[in-house]
Amino acid sequence: MGFDEMDVSTIWMNGEYRDWEDATVHVLTHGLHYGTGVFEGVRAYDTDRGPAIFRWEEHLERLYNSTKPYDMEIPYTREELTEATLEVIRRNDLDGGYIRPIAFYGYDSLGVSPKDNPTDVAIAAWPWGTYLGEDALENGVDVMVSSWRKHASSQIPTNAKTTGLYVNSMLAGEEARRNGYVEAIVLNKEGNVAEGPGENIFMVRDGKLYTPGLSQSILDGITRDTVITLARERGYEVDDSATISRGELNTADELFFTGSAAEVTPIRKVDNVVIGEGTRGPVTEELQSAFFDLVERRTDDHEEWFTYVDEQ
Ligand code: PMP
Repeated sequence: MGFDEMDVSTIWMNGEYRDWEDATVHVLTHGLHYGTGVFEGVRAYDTDRGPAIFRWEEHLERLYNSTKPYDMEIPYTREELTEATLEVIRRNDLDGGYIRPIAFYGYDSLGVSPKDNPTDVAIAAWPWGTYLGEDALENGVDVMVSSWRKHASSQIPTNAKTTGLYVNSMLAGEEARRNGYVEAIVLNKEGNVAEGPGENIFMVRDGKLYTPGLSQSILDGITRDTVITLARERGYEVDDSATISRGELNTADELFFTGSAAEVTPIRKVDNVVIGEGTRGPVTEELQSAFFDLVERRTDDHEEWFTYVDEQ
């Protein structure tokens, strides 16, 4: 669904609340030409206590950390960005949804060096359903191993959530979709499994979980961390610095993606090879329900991960 079909009204931009259609930039914006922006994707969930933002502090921390390689300064404090986010959710009357903070080099000159360009900052929020399709959470998705490789972290910092990085994600995802798959798995430069275009990946084998380590050119996903925590709390052993070869994907008992947008999505087939029984596996199902019980607050666990919009 496009933004024009949504009932949304307000975006916070550079210190002010603007009407949705007025949150615009000049066509000579540095970030538009060179991909020099950093951003976050965050979800708020509809709970008994109103909308609750999931792991807001960690997302904010990652946003500020993402600016560091680019010597970019966000001219607002964490408190100001938090207040703006809460107010954007309220003004758009959202029960839950997706939150998109972004900071990018703005308009001044167009040398590759951003020297005197300001850092523009915006926060938008809108309703957003299941990222990989309606039945993806239950039945899983069919994916292909992309012919595109991830950037090595010696080429571009893959642990910073940079707008320009997503050209690679788009190429991989669209290649998969052109070939009839829902999503891609992207290998790193060494040819080992890195992640999805916008998701981390987990493998289950003999009751143990494996996920590529941070040195494998992945984003340090917050949902990845959540699922590792939930799994360990339930007694699972998790190798969170695994090296997973392409062939191991095919012989896995279960595979699933994690991400703020994708949540916990089972993978049914890789390159048309059926994974496990070809349905959502039991470990995936257990962790997926634990995840949704957590974020929709059917449990009191991990209160520290939630920011209740109506109570701030
Ligand atoms: N990897 C990439 C490349 C992503 O874009 C995302 C989505 N932010 C993730 C992993 C998952 O990260 P998170 O769980 O923090 O959303």
